Amino acid sequence: MTEKQTDWRGIAAELAPVEVIEEPVLIKKRSRDFFWYSPILNAQLKKCFGDLVARPATSGELAQCLAVAYAHDLPVVLRGGGTGNYGQAVPLQGGLIIETTAMNRILEIGEGFVRVEAGALMADINAALIARGWEMAMFPSTQDIATIGGFVAGGSAGIGSIANGALREKGNIISLKALSVEEAPQERVFDAEEALQLHHAWGLNGAITEVTLRTVPTRDWIGCMATFDSYRDCYAAGYALAQSEAIGRKLCSTVEARIVDYFPRLEGHLTKGRHLLVALVPREDMEAFHALITAQGGTVDLALDDTERRAKGIPHVFEFAYNHTTLQVLKADRTATYQQYGVGDPSDAEAVARLGAAVGEDVWQHHEFARVDGRIVAFDLPIIWFTDETRLRQIDDTYRAHGFSVADAHTYHVEGGGLKNADYRHLAWKKRMDPKGLLNPGKSRAWEMVRHLSADDIEAKAKD
Ligand SMILES: Cc1cc2nc3c(=O)[nH]c(=O)nc-3n(C[C@H](O)[C@H](O)[C@H](O)COP(=O)(O)OP(=O)(O)OC[C@H]3O[C@@H](n4cnc5c(N)ncnc54)[C@H](O)[C@@H]3O)c2cc1C
Repeated sequence: MTEKQTDWRGIAAELAPVEVIEEPVLIKKRSRDFFWYSPILNAQLKKCFGDLVARPATSGELAQCLAVAYAHDLPVVLRGGGTGNYGQAVPLQGGLIIETTAMNRILEIGEGFVRVEAGALMADINAALIARGWEMAMFPSTQDIATIGGFVAGGSAGIGSIANGALREKGNIISLKALSVEEAPQERVFDAEEALQLHHAWGLNGAITEVTLRTVPTRDWIGCMATFDSYRDCYAAGYALAQSEAIGRKLCSTVEARIVDYFPRLEGHLTKGRHLLVALVPREDMEAFHALITAQGGTVDLALDDTERRAKGIPHVFEFAYNHTTLQVLKADRTATYQQYGVGDPSDAEAVARLGAAVGEDVWQHHEFARVDGRIVAFDLPIIWFTDETRLRQIDDTYRAHGFSVADAHTYHVEGGGLKNADYRHLAWKKRMDPKGLLNPGKSRAWEMVRHLSADDIEAKAKD
């Protein structure tokens, strides 16, 4: 598509009055996300750049950008904060990057819901909600720079998922609005089940303009860090906390001691050399939390509310959880990477310990607990000291042999990672919303095989 010469100056003029960014250095910056966590993706994507960035401030301006892209057959990549880990927001074929961060209004806060523009930052949404007694049901640890549109289009779960499930679970996304890429882009409303057709579709099948999400009453959360002599006991305590009906929690993570050595900002606050459990627990349940940790053989080293945390100059506890754990290590050593593994039986701490012993010195375990469809699940996001892809795939095989599943973090195809098979409902909506296939080209392998079919014929494949 980029082989034909495009007059980008002319395109920028046609986009007016939409703000555009034309400086090559800034365009390059906005062509990247956090794919560099993966040395494999880094080699594949580091030289992929867009040609022009547009920053619409309203859905009308966004529609104008899409109409111009349609008229000139321009590849288009939607971009929020650019914090995705799989190169979701990297333009593989150049073209127009549409950054949504100027579409950031919080439109409505009501009983159990919030309605926002797609480019609103999640930290801003949470701040507005907390002032009114609510909070987001879940959010990623990147909330300071990540947008709600990017989370819905590219993310899956986060802080809060241990209580409220994954993003895709019924009731978490109440509705979406999205624009098609046509001569005159149409804004469609996707309610409830239908909203899932755009969720985790990586911006392939529509430009999300507005999101309505479930919210939950806020609580007086205490950031807790407990430590243990063995990782087996630490994991078992994590599972016990995740299962507990008596203790409220919106985060429950366990991290091997070797990883904790890479957290300099916690030095002096934690007992050295011990394995770490990270949690957010409401103040009224702290006594029960202390009792649980003691019963599991650990000690609570740190328990701070937000004011106390700030006074001590310590980051949020969730900056030592989810993929922030990996980031803390990468800050010190770029030879680290990670992978995503589902734990076969999350209640089996012995199996986790056996795997830890079997997998090798280049793999350091880190688990997150969440609730999916009402069941507690655990997944391992280990630090892996990368040598080459052959060794990475050996590690994957060791995990599989121990009954764990692999959601590959080292692919930029939407079908390659957590989403194992082609999602033909996503692709049917792509045909309806983006008939020319301009949105995020190259990210779906399956699209290339069905793009010639009608939307209904693509959808029929979902039933096969
Ligand atoms: C340190 C770290 C921790 C993380 N923790 C988590 C976590 O806990 N949970 C989790 O799920 N993810 C996590 N992530 C991944 C990522 O931060 C989140 O998914 C985040 O919500 C993405 O938002 P963003 O605005 O940065 O999206 P981007 O990276 O800008 O975009 C993500 C995808 O969404 C598409 N997109 C963006 N805006 C729109 C729109 N308006 N319409 C249509 N498509 C759009 C993009 O094209 C891209 O495909 C983490 C990443 C890092 C680096």
